[in-house]
Order: sequence, then structure tokens, then C-alpha cells
Amino acid sequence: MANRLFFLAFFHFAIIVGFSSGLDTAILADLPTSNLAGAWADLLSLVDAHKGDSKPAIQKLKSYFVDFGYLGNSTLTADLSFDDALEAAVRLYQQNFRLPVTGNLDSATIAQLVTPRCGGIDVDPSGVSQMLQNLTHPGTSHFVKHYSFFPGTPRWVSKRSLTYAFDQSTTSLASGIPLTSLRTAFSRGFQRWANIVPLTFTETSSISSADIVIAFAGFDHGDRHPFDGQMGVLAHAFAPEDGRFHLDSSESWSVNVRSATSLAAIDLESVVTHEIGHLIGLGHSGDSAAIMFPSIAPRQIKTAFGQDDIDGAQALYGANPNFVPGSTAGTDSNVQSSSSWKATFSCWHLLVLLVLAKILL
Ligand SMILES: [Zn+2]
Ligand SMILES: [Zn+2]
Repeated sequence: MANRLFFLAFFHFAIIVGFSSGLDTAILADLPTSNLAGAWADLLSLVDAHKGDSKPAIQKLKSYFVDFGYLGNSTLTADLSFDDALEAAVRLYQQNFRLPVTGNLDSATIAQLVTPRCGGIDVDPSGVSQMLQNLTHPGTSHFVKHYSFFPGTPRWVSKRSLTYAFDQSTTSLASGIPLTSLRTAFSRGFQRWANIVPLTFTETSSISSADIVIAFAGFDHGDRHPFDGQMGVLAHAFAPEDGRFHLDSSESWSVNVRSATSLAAIDLESVVTHEIGHLIGLGHSGDSAAIMFPSIAPRQIKTAFGQDDIDGAQALYGANPNFVPGSTAGTDSNVQSSSSWKATFSCWHLLVLLVLAKILL
């Protein structure tokens, strides 16, 4: 019992000290608590919050929901109250992530909210949820699709042979990963999509002529979508035919999470594969098995396509002539989901949420 109390008290202390004293994020990176929430640690104080409550972190939550399309900018005020608009946003979020729709910030909802994710929106500016699109397929009861496209369904229209380039002035920010290893991870990500649709991706050294330009950047980097430090938003990419592909340089990127020492390690190839989906025109999917599902746990490997990813990409471009339905095209020997790490991550979530619920609230 004493050990348990010390255990709980230590992690409570780590959260309070770690996030109030401005400790170096490199140190925090290896604390389990920072692994859990990072940039979104404030949201942990909202466990069990519901309509009518007023708490400081509610403004942060409103900002979060604005960023991902759940709330319009007009609702982002200094008002700290859990109002009707926020409750509606919570309900839609719970629908999108297949959580019990209560409108309350139960621990499962908070755990999902603080899970690292892509910076792309879940809800279009028109209010249509990408993650609920095509939830049921008219006329059938067995074929359900979850993939989505950007508003207007942009795709690469005039070319099928695309080029990509690294902004090599930024690749030193990629957690010390050598350029050759970066090239391999991105090449595998691009090839995975090329296996299923009639697109090709070739690296070029010219960022001025490349269709897709890859850059690592931290915090504000000039596109009005600033990154937020470790965890939180991991990366974002723009719809066709923009080609900008940005990864947060504050993350502990890894090309081998199985041997990485940091509990906050993020599998580069998994995130790269997701973002390429955006670059070719896919939005977010509500299917948690899909690459295009928005979130990914630290140390999780998720590079194998779900059927939903294949269906979505082929709805945009048709199938690669060499693609064999039901085959393992697009997968390889390194694509199993690291379920054990995901389970560990979930346990940490629950532990810290319980600590906070008992001590802070
Ligand atoms: Zn995304
Ligand atoms: Zn950016």
C-alpha cells in the first residue's frame, strides 16, 4: 500500500512540478506523465467536467476544438464556462471517436483527447464531420465506409507521377535521425500508397520544383498552424495540390520504436504514411483500424492499411493495375501494430487520470 501511495504521489508530483516549472522538455520526455499528455496536459484537469462547470482549462479545450473544426472561431473567448456549444462539440467528438456520447468529459474522452494526433481537422468548415461521412452506405447493410475527402474533393488532377523533396535546412531537426534513414522511412510511406493507386512518387533534390516538400519545424513556422511542443499535434499536410508536408520538430521521432528508449517515441513511418494520405486527398476516417484515423499512441506502429484506406484512395484515383484486392499490397514485414505498447499507454492514461481525479478534483 505504501509503495502504491508513493507511486501515485510521485506521478502527481511529476505532473505538477513538470508542467509548472518549465522543465526542459527533453527531461520531461522520459517521464511517463509527459508521455501521456505533453502539450495537452492541462486537459487532464477536466476529468468529469460537464455543462455548467467553470474551470481554467476549459479555454484550452475550446481552443483545441476550434483547431480541429468542432467549434467556430467566434466561440473562442475568455469565457471559461462549459456552455451549450462546448457540450455539442464534446458530443460530436465522442461520436467521431466512437465513445459513449454523454457530452461529459469522462475519463475515456479525456484519454482520447490527450492522445497525440495529426493536426488536420476532423470537422469541415461547413460543420460536416469527416469522420462520420459515409457511415452507412445507402442500400446496403453490410458495406460501411468511413473514409472522407476534403471539401470539393481535391486530388492530383493533371499528373500521376509526383516528386517530393526534403527541405534539408530542416532535416537536422528530426531527432538526430540520419538523412539516409529519413529517406528510407518516407520512401516506404510513399511506396505504400503507390502500391494501391496509380500514382508514383520520386525523390528530387529541388524543393523549388518538387510537388511535395517535406520540412521539420517547431511551434510557429509561418503557415498559421503552429505546432505545440512535444506530443499534442505531431504533423500536418495540406490537401492537393498544395504539397506542404510539415512534421513537429519537438517530437521524439524514431525509425525504430521497438528499440527506442524514450516512452514518448513516435514512429516516424506511421505518421508519414498518414500524412501522405492527406497529400493525395484523403481526410480523416472514423475507422480506428484505418491509417487515416487521426490519433496514434506513442511507440505505436501503424503502417498497415485498413480496407477503408484502400477504398478511399481508390475512390479518388482508381486502383493500381498491379493491385490485387485482398492481397497484402501496401504492407510489409514491419507493419504490425505494436499492441503491447498501446496497452501500456492506455494503462498509463488510466493511472494518471485516476490520480488526478482523486487528488486534484
Ligand atoms: Zn490527419
Ligand atoms: Zn505547417
